[in-house]
Amino acid sequence: MFVIKKDISLKPYNTFGIDVTASYYAKANTVEKILYAINFASYNKLPIFVIGGGSNVLFTRNIEGVVVNPAIQGIQQQSDDENSYVFRVGSGVVWDKFAEFAAENNMGGIENLSYIPGLVGASPIQNIGAYGVEAKDVISKVEAIDISSRKLVEFNASECRFGYRDSIFKQELKGKIIITHVWFKLSKKPHFVLDYGNLTGEVEKLGEVSVKNVRKAVIGIRKSKLPDPAQLGNAGSFFKNPIVDSDTYLSLKSNHADLNGFQVSESFYKIPAGWLIEKLGWKGKRVGKCGVHQNQALVIVNYGGATGNEILELASSIEQSVKEQFGIALEREVNVL
Ligand SMILES: Cc1cc2nc3c(=O)[nH]c(=O)nc-3n(C[C@H](O)[C@H](O)[C@H](O)COP(=O)(O)OP(=O)(O)OC[C@H]3O[C@@H](n4cnc5c(N)ncnc54)[C@H](O)[C@@H]3O)c2cc1C
Repeated sequence: MFVIKKDISLKPYNTFGIDVTASYYAKANTVEKILYAINFASYNKLPIFVIGGGSNVLFTRNIEGVVVNPAIQGIQQQSDDENSYVFRVGSGVVWDKFAEFAAENNMGGIENLSYIPGLVGASPIQNIGAYGVEAKDVISKVEAIDISSRKLVEFNASECRFGYRDSIFKQELKGKIIITHVWFKLSKKPHFVLDYGNLTGEVEKLGEVSVKNVRKAVIGIRKSKLPDPAQLGNAGSFFKNPIVDSDTYLSLKSNHADLNGFQVSESFYKIPAGWLIEKLGWKGKRVGKCGVHQNQALVIVNYGGATGNEILELASSIEQSVKEQFGIALEREVNVL
């Protein structure tokens, strides 16, 4: 039986561990159940909010509406050819279970994205990325339900308009669709991307360069660097790395030799937001029940009992000081609700 729960705490459903309530919560593991939840919301004139694993959201208020958790399972092979396999994966599959499945079967493409929290359904939303690889490199299609028409819709890769931590689903389709399945093309002849940070060295320590070893190395690095949300509430990087024009970059670089930007096009550079935040002394700083992680200036943590607004205030103070000191506007990666 499909049950829509009433007045429940969302604390277990977000990695920041923010204690807000939802008027209704529907964990829906089929397209039909998602449609039922949409009809229920419409009948009761309530808005819909979608959450997957809750690892990229910050709740600042109770949700007066229906929270839908698309929980569709299944990793189904659709086709294969000489070079690749195509899989259709349910939005409720845990992302890292899919990454583990790919590594176990020596299928290349997502090993660098190992151990990113959350569900498959959210992977196209911000085009998850790590260690020089992005979900857009392997996503071939996204299936979704259009909330207002209740129709099933599909987006090919170019229609997803992927960008750096961005897609059409974070822009004009924000809040308008519910992703049900994502199609991935994984490689039979993996092409490894190891030129990021100390990844090459960590893989070499494990032996041959293989999908399994790259995954193992990535997991090792991530565990050593990032706080585990089960121990310390957080949503990973709170801010995106800003992209600035070359004049701004070169002028900053002339004053700070330790700034390492990455040229993204002829006249633009991506600079590490963590560097800007650390330079201003925020790293390790605690403000009440939240703070900036001691090893990772990009990560805001909840030491326990912080409200979403307290975390948001801290984020705003950081944004303000970066703007004042460097003239750069930080953009949030986390979805604030
Ligand atoms: C410790 C830690 C490390 C992280 N590292 C990385 C990293 O290296 N790279 C990276 O890119 N991200 C990283 N993240 C962020 C996060 O894991 C990803 O953004 C992930 O894809 C979020 O998945 P989720 O299922 O938890 O989405 P949620 O947080 O539940 O939702 C995120 C957004 O997507 C929407 N959404 C979710 N599912 C659907 C769906 N099926 N249909 C429509 N909309 C949907 C929600 O409404 C919300 O706006 C990290 C987070 C943590 C806590």
